[in-house]
Amino acid sequence: MQSNCNKNLLNLEGVKLKSVQHTLDGIIIKIETNPKPQICPCCGAGTSKIHDYRWQKIKDLPFQLSNAYLLLRKRRYVCSCGKRFYEKYSFIAKYQQRTTRLSFKIVELLRSTNSIKYVASQTNVSMNTVIRILDTLSYDKPHIPQCISIDEFKGNAGGCKEKMYS
Ligand SMILES: [Zn+2]
Repeated sequence: MQSNCNKNLLNLEGVKLKSVQHTLDGIIIKIETNPKPQICPCCGAGTSKIHDYRWQKIKDLPFQLSNAYLLLRKRRYVCSCGKRFYEKYSFIAKYQQRTTRLSFKIVELLRSTNSIKYVASQTNVSMNTVIRILDTLSYDKPHIPQCISIDEFKGNAGGCKEKMYS
């Protein structure tokens, strides 16, 4: 019964669902991935040696109208050069505490509303987070007034940079 059904439910490549817990704060979904050979970011050598694990809580898209969190068993590898590093995951951006698909959802909502408060409430993030994401969207366009770049972005899902510079 396990895997296939659970895999489809989460719709995240290479992720195994371990457990689901309903709490007052939302749904907590424990996940893990299979170990795979890594390239050391320091010396470039390959390694498969696992150093340790730590749990990371990541905000995901709301699920069944509840806040949803992925609790990821994050794996750290060690290289023969001594470097320790965390595995990279395609579904979280570096240094982020949320899934990339949640960031995309925030961007999508920003296209249809001017209310940062509304977007924050719909996606379980702070208004500051929404503002930060909005800032990154217009970051590369210093020569274009803010209002124009936002309007431009609104009319153009996903490919805003290409459009701005084409
Ligand atoms: Zn190394």
